[in-house]
Amino acid sequence: MSNTISKKVLLSFSGIASDKPIVSELIRKYNLEINIYRAKIGNNEEGHMAIGVTGDEKLVNESLKYLKSSNVEVKETETGLIWDEEKCASCGNCLTHCPTKALHITDSHSRRVEFDGSKCIECLSCIRNCPFGACKSFF
Ligand code: SF4
Ligand code: SF4
Repeated sequence: MSNTISKKVLLSFSGIASDKPIVSELIRKYNLEINIYRAKIGNNEEGHMAIGVTGDEKLVNESLKYLKSSNVEVKETETGLIWDEEKCASCGNCLTHCPTKALHITDSHSRRVEFDGSKCIECLSCIRNCPFGACKSFF
């Protein structure tokens, strides 16, 4: 029985790998739904993509192995948005600017702000609205 899963992954690639149609390969070979949150190719052909993959669990895992074998660095637990807990003053300024509540308060008593990367859609709005520089982009 198939088990459909979704994962958010951060891809980094350079040179030869950047010439490959990575996303279309994932769709064609592994029958995955791909959500591209954000992508950037630099002048030196180094590239980064923050994507969401949805599909059969076995095929999702095989597709990530395929990417790794194609010289694509795959980070399954990281996001393109880096939240620095040490710098975060829990001022709350970002909360109304975060459309998915990836930045949120779980404890109404302490009002400590926390970050849930699985909900982040990489809009980067928090970077523009954080007075303490606690949010920055990996790429
Ligand atoms: S990048 Fe957007 S979705 Fe992600 S934490 Fe910042 S404001 Fe929220
Ligand atoms: S705006 Fe910056 S310092 Fe304030 S709660 Fe959000 S991430 Fe933390």
